[in-house]
Amino acid sequence: MQTLNLSPPSKTFERIPVYIISGFLGSGKTTLLNRLLQDLPKSAVIINEFGSTPIDQQLLREHQMPLSTLVGGCLCCQVIGALTPLLKNLRLAWEKDHSAFERIIIETSGVANPEPVLDIILRERWLSKRYSLQGIIATVSATLEADYLDFFPEAQAQITWADTLVMTQTDLATPAAIATLEARLLTLAPAATRIQAVQGEVDLNLIFNGVPQYRKLRDTEMPDLPAHGFNSVSLQLEQPLPWERIEKALLRLMADYAHELVRVKGMLYTQGDKHPLLIQGTGNHLYPTTRLAARATDDGIGRLVMITHGEVNGLAESLMAHLKETHS
Ligand SMILES: [Zn+2]
Repeated sequence: MQTLNLSPPSKTFERIPVYIISGFLGSGKTTLLNRLLQDLPKSAVIINEFGSTPIDQQLLREHQMPLSTLVGGCLCCQVIGALTPLLKNLRLAWEKDHSAFERIIIETSGVANPEPVLDIILRERWLSKRYSLQGIIATVSATLEADYLDFFPEAQAQITWADTLVMTQTDLATPAAIATLEARLLTLAPAATRIQAVQGEVDLNLIFNGVPQYRKLRDTEMPDLPAHGFNSVSLQLEQPLPWERIEKALLRLMADYAHELVRVKGMLYTQGDKHPLLIQGTGNHLYPTTRLAARATDDGIGRLVMITHGEVNGLAESLMAHLKETHS
């Protein structure tokens, strides 16, 4: 007797590869992401920014990829709850249209510990069948003082969880500082691949060198994470100002709050120029600005985000005062 098997063929799930980019405030995560997207345009991107005003996405303007932003909190704690529904929605969109994207790249905030993020991707039952975590990449700036790793446990966690460490801004650091940092990275993450970005260029083959064989996860429930102790201040500048004046005021502010102000970023307008300027600073260092293409949708209002370690009062007021003083 013949039996007819009418059950449908077992549905095999194609898992979408996921990469996590982490790295401390100002270490060049978005620059690296920008570089990756040049070679991997079919990527869906999730950006998490600690400040309430999104700035990083401005660096990605030239790319046409599905972009989701989680702003105003850190991905490892404040906005972690939004990640699961976001990944579910992306997967459902992908099932309707496989050509939408081929992978997902998640850029965490600079203060995030990547562990809760990988915990969700690897352990959430529905997601873990549909996504495969391919790698955690952490950017590490060669310019930061060596002791910042002792000062910020978040920076250490990012390094220890990374499969690949990308040392950035090496052109701004001395060979001795680079060697010291290399030795420290070797201690913190002996198994990680370590590469140096030269003028924003990296060897992508070294980053995408396959799934790690072994990843240690906690076997207990996650305890409540302590608050990171970072705060952010966002402000808007309605009037365009000469760049020299903005630069002077920012450098004064960074000197005034040398211990508290860990990150400055923004998109500003300068007098007589329709092109917005992307500004980036860490510690007491202001990086060269990037002049972005002007867009019809730009509203001409400058936006600045400052991230402090600890509670700082009067930061915006101090900046405004410096902007007025440097006028005369
Ligand atoms: Zn967090």
